Formats: sequence, structure tokens, C-alpha cells
Amino acid sequence: MNTQAHNFIAVEQWQGKAFLGDWSATCGGVTDVNNPATCAVLGSVGIGNATDIAEAAQQARLAQPAWAARLPLERAAILNKAADLLERNAEELIGWIMRESGSIQPKAAIEIEHGAGFVRHAAAVALEPNGILLPSMEADRSNTAKRVPHGVVGVISPFNFPLVLSIRAIAAALAVGNAVVHKPDPRTAVSGGIIIARIFEDAGLPSGVLQVVPGGADAGEAMCADPNIAMISFTGSAAGGSKVGEVAGRHLKKVQLELGGKNSLIVLDDADLDIAASNAAWGSFLHQGQICMSTGLVLVQKSIAEGLANRIAEKARHLPAGDPSTGRVALGPIISDAQVAKIQSIVDDAVAAGSRLLAGGGHDGRYYQATVLADVKPGMLAFGEEIFGPVACLVSFETDDEAVELANRLDYGLAAGVISGSLARARAVGERLNVGQLHINDQTVNGGPFAPFGGRGRSGNGSRIGGPAIWEEFTQWVWTSEKPQATPYPF
Ligand code: NAD
Repeated sequence: MNTQAHNFIAVEQWQGKAFLGDWSATCGGVTDVNNPATCAVLGSVGIGNATDIAEAAQQARLAQPAWAARLPLERAAILNKAADLLERNAEELIGWIMRESGSIQPKAAIEIEHGAGFVRHAAAVALEPNGILLPSMEADRSNTAKRVPHGVVGVISPFNFPLVLSIRAIAAALAVGNAVVHKPDPRTAVSGGIIIARIFEDAGLPSGVLQVVPGGADAGEAMCADPNIAMISFTGSAAGGSKVGEVAGRHLKKVQLELGGKNSLIVLDDADLDIAASNAAWGSFLHQGQICMSTGLVLVQKSIAEGLANRIAEKARHLPAGDPSTGRVALGPIISDAQVAKIQSIVDDAVAAGSRLLAGGGHDGRYYQATVLADVKPGMLAFGEEIFGPVACLVSFETDDEAVELANRLDYGLAAGVISGSLARARAVGERLNVGQLHINDQTVNGGPFAPFGGRGRSGNGSRIGGPAIWEEFTQWVWTSEKPQATPYPF
């Protein structure tokens, strides 16, 4: 990656402001941007309230028709330039993602790499055909259908992969001619918002087409009710998504819900134990387990359960947690004290209910230890709840059928992985799992611009984001019929 360190994200440019066509103060006040590892204040951003959202949505609606009318090649060129800016400023931007979201360097680097990939893929989609010729029921009558943008798309994103989860929706919406009002989580307003506003500002996106307004649930709910916003693209918790679906549904908006996960990694008895342990540790502990695709359950066949558990525990004991900016650590801080308390309560519940704690189980402030729980069983919170912390939960099973049955008991259905020495056996198990993403001989954390990403059950509402789903989600059909001239009807 061609990187250069300079002042692309100059604090004085956005201090106390949001991006409302240009950098402006908001009516909703300001909030500090904090480093969750040190609690240091990194800056402050403008916070949007309902008035700011209404203004942003109106401006976006006014700007959208001219953006949709731009040639696809022009839209693609602007998107590609934005991707260039992400890559060219990678070193500086990775630093921001690390400081603001508690990410270790490799995870922050993945955000830039994948972020640029999402934008470039969206640019390519802008150049795809967007219509079809339909059969006609009458001579001399032509029937066509084309995909048109919804208008203004409201994007709401979470803190954990702030850049990728924001830009994957923003780039897709812009590519096919929508304007965007984007509300990043205020805890990651820079990584999930300011960076994106800056790259599109410098890439030459016309003013007004992208509005970036950091804010809380109140601002998000205002987006769901705003008459100028036609679609909501939400990534976040099932609880938040359910509320968003309710409000947006009341206002008859299209809603895309990309929600939480409790993802099974199934390890069959013919798997290589060292490789399986490494997959389970990566899937469970990467970014402190704060990923929707994190491995939430390690389902392991009984004959190899003890061997796998010991290997994962050994790894967990040697994964250092600390401030990612100060050195080479494997785990950074958990995003908030409230989230640390939630993780602890789920671990305590499991231990009280008979689960064996093989590693970790506690925390030093925001640093939660890599934790391994064996003998997790249905009925424990650790079995069914999304923990969003670095906890590997091991469940043992006897037969392949039982593994499928246990995995399909979960309310969530985002991702799953199956590891086996036999591809055919892994596939046979995997194909029976109720998930939106299946990884054979890999753990559960996988993503990228070309896949239609999404989940079943409590993980979403059947929508997908990325890859072939861009046209499906961010545009709608218009059917047009044409006759050479008007003809009379019977009356
Ligand atoms: P959250 O639902 O609390 O917040 C996510 C975003 O929604 C934030 O911007 C928040 O301000 C906003 N929000 C919250 N309540 C809202 C409401 N009632 N109306 C409108 N907006 C509202 O989620 P979180 O706990 O901060 O984030 C972690 C969750 O996100 C986890 O459950 C995780 O699995 C999920 N997630 C899902 C995906 C995916 O692609 N499926 C990706 C990453 C994270």
C-alpha cells in the first residue's frame, strides 16, 4: 500500500463540527472523541439532533437528482478517487482507527484495505447495465425495466468496524445515484464519519450529496421518520435494528437490517487440532470479540474436545492485552465500561451454571482477558447470547447431526464455519446450517466487497449488503412501456 503520513484529518477542520455539505456546527451540540484505551480526548465533533437530520436530509434530497444524472463514468471516477485517498493516507488513517476504536494495527489496516475495496467495487457497479428489455404482449409496444436510485439513503453504523461498515453502504448507495445522510456511532465519529467525509470532499463529490452527522439513537430515529429519506441501511444490534425497522416501517421506508450474530465454528473429529485451535482463537479473540461474525460457539466433537480446549486455552494465556498504540498487543480495550460489565456477567453466569473456566475470565479496567469456557450448554447465557467480548465458548457434541441441531438452535443466523479433514463431510454439515454465510475449513470472521453479506433469523431481515446485492438493495425497478402513438380503448 502506498502510504504517506500527513495531516489529512486535520483536527482544526472538523473540531466541533459535522459535514453538512461543508464543515458546519450542529444544533445538537458537541461531544468529545475519546481513546478507549487511555480515555485521552482526541478532539470533538458536532452532534446531530432531529433539526440537524431534517436539514441534512433536505439538502441531500436537493442534491440527489443532479448526482443521479451524472454519467456513470463520472460517478465511478469520483468513487475511485476516494478509494485512492484512503490508500494514500493509510498510515495516518490507521492511527486514527487504532486510537479511536481500540483496534490493533492489523485490524485497522484491514479496515483501510477492505474500505478501499468496497469503494472500488461500488465504482465498478456504477458501470454495469441497469435495465432489461421485457417481452411485449402487443405488437408495436416496447417494455423496458430499469433500476433507479431510491433518492436519499440514511446510513446508520456501529462502532466496531466503523470505517468498513459505514463505507460499504455509503459507496454502494452513491454508486447507483443516491444521496446519503450518514450517522456514525458518536464513539467512532472520526473513523466511521469524518474520514469518509474527507475522502469524498477531496475526491470532488458535489456538495450536499453526502451529509455526515454523528449522533445517537435519537438522531437515528429521526432519520427513520424523515420524509426526505427513502431508505435506511442499518448495521448494529438486533435490539437497535428492531426499533429501526418499527419506525421506518411506520413511515413506509425500505429498510436494510444487518444485525448481530452468534456464530458457530464446528470442528469435526477428523480435523487437524492445531489448525482448528488457531481458527477458533482468531475467530473468538480478533478485535476482542467485538465483531458481528466473531466465533460465538466452538462446537467440537467429543473425542477431540479436551485436546482442542487445551490448545485454545494455551493460546489465550499468551495473548497480551493493552493499549494498541504503545506496542505489539493482540487484544486492545473493550469499547466501554458497560460492555465490560456485560461480558463479565455472561462469563460469571456460565461458570455458576457449571461451565469450566480454562483461561481468562476477568479484566483490568477495559482490558478483558482472552477467555476460554468449556462445557458450555444450552440454557446458559454464553450459549445463546452475542457476548461481543473475547470469550471462546466450547460446546461438545457426539454426532454430525447433533452439531447441526445445536447450531440451528441459535436465534441468530449470520455466519458459520466447519473444519474437517473431509471436504465432503464439512460441506454436508455446513449446507444444513441456517446462516447467511458459510465458510468450509475456515473460521467465521470473513468479509469483503464481492460477497452478498447478511444473515438469517435475528441477524437481519433478509437483506444483503455488497456484491450482487448492491442493485437489489440500493435501487428499485421502474417499468416503462411505449407505444408509437396513443390508441383508443372500448370506452
Ligand atoms: P447499536 O444497535 O446499539 O448501535 C448501532 C448504531 O445504531 C449506532 O450508530 C447507534 O447510535 C444507532 N442506534 C441505536 N439505537 C437506535 C435506534 N433506536 N434508532 C436508530 N439508530 C439507533 O449496536 P452496538 O451495540 O453499538 O454495535 C454492535 C452490534 O452491531 C452487535 O450486535 C454487532 O453484531 C452488530 N453488528 C452487525 C454487523 C453486520 O454486518 N451484521 C456488523 C457489525 C456489527
